[in-house]
Amino acid sequence: MNRVYNFSAGPSMLPMPVLQRAADELLCYGESGMSVMEMSHRSADYEPIIADAEAMLRRLMNIPDNYKVLFLQGGASTQFAAVPLNLIGRTGKADYAVSGQFSGKAFKEAQKMGYDVKCIATTKDDNFDHVPVITKDMIRPDAAYLHICFNNTIYGTKYPYIPDAGDVPLVADLSSCIISEPVDVSRFGVIYAGAQKNMAPAGLTLVIVREDLLDYADPKMPTMLEWKTMADNGSMYNTPPCYTIYMAKLVYEWILSLGGLDVMKQMNERKANLLYDYLDSQDYYIAPVKKESRSMMNVTFVTGDAELDKKFAKEAAAVGLKNLKGHRSVGGMRASIYNAMPYEGVEALVAFMKDFAANNPKA
Ligand SMILES: *Cc1c(COP(=O)(O)O)cnc(C)c1O
Repeated sequence: MNRVYNFSAGPSMLPMPVLQRAADELLCYGESGMSVMEMSHRSADYEPIIADAEAMLRRLMNIPDNYKVLFLQGGASTQFAAVPLNLIGRTGKADYAVSGQFSGKAFKEAQKMGYDVKCIATTKDDNFDHVPVITKDMIRPDAAYLHICFNNTIYGTKYPYIPDAGDVPLVADLSSCIISEPVDVSRFGVIYAGAQKNMAPAGLTLVIVREDLLDYADPKMPTMLEWKTMADNGSMYNTPPCYTIYMAKLVYEWILSLGGLDVMKQMNERKANLLYDYLDSQDYYIAPVKKESRSMMNVTFVTGDAELDKKFAKEAAAVGLKNLKGHRSVGGMRASIYNAMPYEGVEALVAFMKDFAANNPKA
C-alpha cells in the first residue's frame, strides 16, 4: 500500500485511524452480524451510532442545548435553497455577503426564488483576495438573516472574526473549516456544512440551527428541505446517509481522543504556519490572499506563470503530493490541509516547493 498526501479540497483525506477502524468494522459491526452499510436506520444497532455522532459533535463544538443538530443529504449546495425557504418567512427579506464562489451561488439561489435579497458586501472587484468588512450598520435591521461563507475554499480566505449582525441571525456556510478549531456556536443562528471537506466522505450535510428559527418555513416548501420536519424526526424523516454519519462519528471520536478542537487548532496552525512562513520567506511563489484573510485550511499560491503552475501540479503528483492544482475557475495551486493532513505532508510539500523553485528558474 502506497498512500499519498492528498491535498484535495474535497472529498479529501480522512484520518488513518478512522479508515483503519472502518476497515476493521466493515464486515461486521460489533455483535450485529452485519456491516453498518447493511443496517436499517431504525434498528437497535444503528440508533446508538447516530445518537453518539450527535452527542460527540455537541461535545466537540460545545453546541448549546437550544440548537438542533441535523444530519441531512444534498450537500451544502442544497442548503443554498433551504436557507431562504426556511428563514425568509421571518421578515420577507435577507442579506448576503459575497466573498467567493459559494457565497455567490447562495446569493443567486435566493435571488432566483424571487425573494428580496441584497448583497451588502463583496470583494469581487479584488478577485476575492480578502473577505469583506461587515459592520452592523450595513445589514438591514429587518433582514430575516445575514448569510456568509466563513471559509472560502476556492480562494483560500476566511473571516478572521465572526461578523456582528446584531439581532439579525447570522447564517454561515462552514463547509471547509468546520471542526478545524473552536467556534462560538451561540454567535450563529444557523451553521451548515457539507461533510466531505473536513468531516467524513461525501453524502452528509450538517445543519446546526437555533430552535427559535425553525418556525418560519414557507408552508409550500418541499418537505425534505424543511429543517423543522427533520428536527422533529431526529434527522430520520426518511433514510439518512447512515454510513456517512457513522464515518463522521469515527472522525469526531478521533478528534475527541486527541483532546478536542483546541488541540486540533494547534495542529492546524502549526501546519498552516509552516506553509505560509515559507511563502512569506521567498519570492518565487506568490500567495495572492491578503494576510488578515488567510485561511488555515486552504492555502492558495501561484508562480505567476500558468505553464509553470501546470508543471508544478504535475510533478508534485508524480512524487505523491496529489491534487495541488487550484480550482478550475482560478488556476494556480491550492493546498487543502484539513484536520487529517499530517504535518509531514506539509513538510513534504514545502520541500518539494523549494526543489521546484530551484530547478525551474523564471525567465
Ligand atoms: C464545497 C463547498 C460547497 C459545496 O458543497 P457541496 O456539498 O458539494 O454542495 C459549498 N460551500 C463551501 C464553502 C464549500 O467548500
